[in-house]
Parts: sequence; C-alpha cells; structure tokens
Amino acid sequence: MGDSRIRAGVDFDRPGVQHGHLDAPYSRDGSAWGSLLIPITCVVNGAGPTVLLTGGNHGDEYEGQVALAKLCRAIDPAQVRGRIVIVPALNYPAARAGTRTSPIDGGNLNRSFPGRRDGTMTQMIAHYVDSVLLPMADVVVDLHSGGTSLEFLPSAIMHRLADRQQSARTFAALKAFGAPVGLVLEELDTAGLLDTAAEDKGKVFLSTELCGGGRLDFEGLAIAERGIRNVLIEVGALRGEIERRPTRLLDTDGPGRFLKAPEAGVCEYLAPLGAAVERGQPLARIHFLDRPSREAVVLTAGAGGVLWGRRPLAQCDVGDCLAIVAGELDERSITSEPVRRGGPGVL
Ligand code: CA
Repeated sequence: MGDSRIRAGVDFDRPGVQHGHLDAPYSRDGSAWGSLLIPITCVVNGAGPTVLLTGGNHGDEYEGQVALAKLCRAIDPAQVRGRIVIVPALNYPAARAGTRTSPIDGGNLNRSFPGRRDGTMTQMIAHYVDSVLLPMADVVVDLHSGGTSLEFLPSAIMHRLADRQQSARTFAALKAFGAPVGLVLEELDTAGLLDTAAEDKGKVFLSTELCGGGRLDFEGLAIAERGIRNVLIEVGALRGEIERRPTRLLDTDGPGRFLKAPEAGVCEYLAPLGAAVERGQPLARIHFLDRPSREAVVLTAGAGGVLWGRRPLAQCDVGDCLAIVAGELDERSITSEPVRRGGPGVL
C-alpha cells in the first residue's frame, strides 16, 4: 500500500477481527534481516466509517496503550459498523523502552509528521501513518497522557479548526468522549504533529491527556475506555448507547497560560492540580539546594482559571514547563470565531 517500506500483516478490507503486525525493516547488529513488528488490530463489518485509534505515540504514556490493548481483546465485530483500526503502541520501540522518544533513533514520533519513507525508524512510522492509515480514516483518536514529565486533569482535546463542519463534528466527538475536561488546546508549534497531519486531511481528530507522571492511573484508564467507546458510537462505528458524563470545557487560548522555569532547582507547588487560580497568585517556588542561603524564587500565575497541568518531577531545569492554567471555554469561539493557529504552548 502506498510507497511505504512498512508492510501490514492485516488485510484492511477483510471482514472480522484480525490481530497482526506492521512489519518495518530493521537491519541491525544481531538481526541482519530483522524487522520491527508493531502490533495492529483491524476490525471490519460492512459499511460505515473508518476510525483509527492510536496509543503509545509517546512510549511513557500508558492509559491509551492499555485501553486499546483491552479493546483489541474485547471488541465484537458484530457490533462494529465499518472499520476500526487499532495501534496501541504506535512508537513501539519507545513503548517497549517506556520512554517518550525512540531508543532506536531518538525520534519524537509526534514531532516527525509527515515523516519520510527513507528516513529513520521514527520517520518511517510517521510516513506510514501519514500515507496509509490517515487517508483510510474518517475519524482519528490519538491517546496521550502526561508522560514522565507532565501530569494533567484527565482531558479529551481538540484544536480550533478553520473548517466549521470539521470543527462541529470534532466538538461533538469531544463532548461524547465524556472526560472530566474537554480542552481546546492552542499548540505553540503545530509542526510535525499527528494532530496537524490528520486535521489538514480533513479528519475528525481527537487527542487526550490522561493523568501522567509515568504512571498508569486506574481512573484515567476507565476514562479512556469509556471515552473511546463513546466516540465510536458517536461517529457511527459501534452500536450501543453513549454513556454521557459531564465535561468541563476549558481553553488554553490567551497569554500567560504556560509557566516555564526561569531557573534550575527544586520546584515546590503551592496549589494542587485542579485548583482554581487567580492571575498573579503564587503557583510554585524554586529552591536552590546548592545555595541554601538564597531565597526561593516565587513563580506566579500569568492567567486565571484552573491549574490543568503541571510537572510531577521535583527537579526542574531552565525552560521546563512547570504549569498550565486553563480558562473556561467560550463555546462561541469554536462555533463562530475565525481560526488562528499557533499559540502559547506545546505538549
Ligand atoms: Ca504526549
């Protein structure tokens, strides 16, 4: 399919459930004619939409990987309409290593799109997704969590989109997901994201941020499992009833929402995740263990709202993202405002 060097071990048109692999050539010391085998499951049942579900885009984010593995085992093809393609660990080398980036080439898959046919392993995976999987899909859900260096209020995520119809369908999917938070995220840099690749192809695209800190959170996992099922029902790919849950709609638009560390040190947070925050309120202190006599530096919120995300690690370096304060979403900004791309943060 396409000109990718990766070959699928499943037939995307065959009815029923198939568990197989994406076979990427991986010649290396100890395995001259070896392959990287990325697990993939394909479920086909008659006419309907194609939904692509991915986890492990970053290897140290676990709720999506486990939720999708459970879905692979549990899905009943008789309940499916159309096609569901599931890749629980998209950057499979990173997932095996439990790292954000690939141990093979250092590649950050979610900064590698649209990828390169003859590039590194990470670029090759991105190219396969961009040239084979995305064109097949009507709807794409890429499940992220905070990973080792961030943690979040469990959230389904979308971006502002220029196409009103695409935006409305995406917003409906966001609300159907039913995470405690539905966030409209302004990315600092959209280059290289799977998100951007899918949105630019006109797809309904949702992401998530489900807990983090390198943990597998049982509530985050339950939110992921329910949310995936709800979205599949919402877009007509699965029979059943949506299990509606209240979703608080938040937004990271506007200045001052992303707090970066101005100095290296040990960070003490002064408010818990989910706390209401006022602009100017002290959010964190950085302590200097190599110079105990020096006063800690106090960092204040640049905007009011909710402490939506933060760094769970005590140590910080200059430039680390320490906190994200989200504001309430004005729904009119999704339904009527002209689109801007590029904003104050990147995840
Ligand atoms: Ca991530």
